[in-house]
Amino acid sequence: MPITKSKEIRLKGINASPGICIGKAYLIGSEGVDVVETYYIGDKDLQKEIKRFKTAVKGAKDELRAISENVPEDLRKYSDIIETHMVLLKDKMLYDKTIDTIKNEHVNAEWALRKVATDVKSMFKSIPDGYLKERAYDIEQVSDRIMHNLMGSDRKNLKEISKRVILVAHDLSPADTSQIEIDRIMGFVTDRGGRASHTSIIARALEIPAVLGLETATSSIKNDDLLIIDGTTGIVIINPEEQTLVEFEERRIRYAEYKIAFIKNSQLRAETKDGVHVKVMGNIELPEEVSSVIDLGGDGIGLYRTEFQYLNRPSFPSEDQLFTKYREVVEIMAPKPVTIRTLDINGDKAIANSSSDEENPALGLRAIRYCLSRPDVFKPQLRAILRASAFGNVRILFPLISSYHEIVETRKMLKEAAHSLDSDGLAYNKNMEVGVMIEVPSAVTIADLLANEADFFSIGTNDLIQYSFAVDRGNKQVAYLYRALDPAIIRMIKHVSDVCKKKNIKVFMCGEMAGDPINTPILLGLGIDELSMSPQSMPAVKSMIRSLEVKETRSFISEVMEKVTASDILELLKSRYSNILPEQASLWK
Ligand code: PEP
Ligand code: MG
Repeated sequence: MPITKSKEIRLKGINASPGICIGKAYLIGSEGVDVVETYYIGDKDLQKEIKRFKTAVKGAKDELRAISENVPEDLRKYSDIIETHMVLLKDKMLYDKTIDTIKNEHVNAEWALRKVATDVKSMFKSIPDGYLKERAYDIEQVSDRIMHNLMGSDRKNLKEISKRVILVAHDLSPADTSQIEIDRIMGFVTDRGGRASHTSIIARALEIPAVLGLETATSSIKNDDLLIIDGTTGIVIINPEEQTLVEFEERRIRYAEYKIAFIKNSQLRAETKDGVHVKVMGNIELPEEVSSVIDLGGDGIGLYRTEFQYLNRPSFPSEDQLFTKYREVVEIMAPKPVTIRTLDINGDKAIANSSSDEENPALGLRAIRYCLSRPDVFKPQLRAILRASAFGNVRILFPLISSYHEIVETRKMLKEAAHSLDSDGLAYNKNMEVGVMIEVPSAVTIADLLANEADFFSIGTNDLIQYSFAVDRGNKQVAYLYRALDPAIIRMIKHVSDVCKKKNIKVFMCGEMAGDPINTPILLGLGIDELSMSPQSMPAVKSMIRSLEVKETRSFISEVMEKVTASDILELLKSRYSNILPEQASLWK
């Protein structure tokens, strides 16, 4: 009897963690929490309702504690994230406001919680910075957990999974992911989440293919559906046809072989054929990511984004808390360099119980502007970084410098922080290198002036492209303009690099442009001294460097400079270099 096969369905999401896997779907839904009824609570029952809410929070906390105590050894380093969720349970914005809403509006706890959580989430989502935006998911996960306790709905225990499956969920909380038995999970697929979400960070750290932000995954996929996950391109195929299966099985094998070959060679120096050692460094958000940098052959940390430690907490971290985290990373990496970037945050949104009224935060009191306006926040971080410098090779990096005055003011504060350490008798490296991020066009045009105040520059192409083209980093409608290879960007990089050579300071790159090997010949040709990227991208870039000759890339630049569009430059690169990494070349668009 002929078997009628359902037609395959393809979904496109965010390519959060590379690799291909093929397997059966295992859905872990948040069933039961989406329908929330509202009902009136009379005066005499208000305290009882509040108590019911507090019991649900306590239940959620006990669950998280139990999970945290039973985290398997290989995931223990992520228990910090669970701690963060435990703190969030009692966060003023969520906890106190829910109680106030029950009291003031005489509504049931479920309704009050849903209302408050929605407000807090939309506040985070309105922040243009992608990283902060995604903190909305933490609020959602925490409130979902309390909601489950209020409504008595069971959450499936991930530990019960006994076969190798692909997890499909609306979202996966750090508590969920920490329960995962790594040899049982082949991949992650979620409706929510983005590249900077915890799920994504953990998937990359565990090297599990993941496609996130699909929006309709849980409604389109059923338990036991056969799935193909291509975490490299962000594609999920539901119930693939025979031919697709064969095609992706071949790709899966090719990718696995390619990865083995890369990883095998990842510890080799990234030395060009003509003997120039180009340092390839890792970008990290969490201290836990240091192990990936080491395992994948990083020459150091080129960008340590420090925002994470300021999020999801009722108050700012103390100098000692910051110092302990920085020291941990610095000591592990020593003698290799760790470039700690000071807080790059929008307005005062780092403080959990405040909100900003800036209309256009991307052009507002962000990053260094915010820090200069808040010495009470900035100085403890400067002191913590300086103190960590006594334990290894630390460089400090200042984000979003847009005028000469700013770097002068910043250096003044750094000096004051150093003097205060002298007075306290605390050690630090008096010769710590000071870097300026070049990520706004004004910084490019005054690069010669800024170079007088810096030991190195680090080009942040993510923002440089955004601010140069007036294109929001996260807006899909104008994404066609967001192109690193546009002559406008290439010319800026060339200008900055030429200035650095003249002024005899080093020039690095830590934006996403540095992590795509197709760009490597241009970056080498332009004289970028160090490339810093997500650790997973390092092996491919190192391999590309080893196949190039600096001399040849320099002469290649004169051809590049004649081209007039990003597509022309890409075509030129592909015609010249795609044979070096054929597996990657299929992704170059
Ligand atoms: C950049 O802007 O290129 C950069 C590296 O910083 P972030 O992505 O953190 O803004
Ligand atoms: Mg930036």
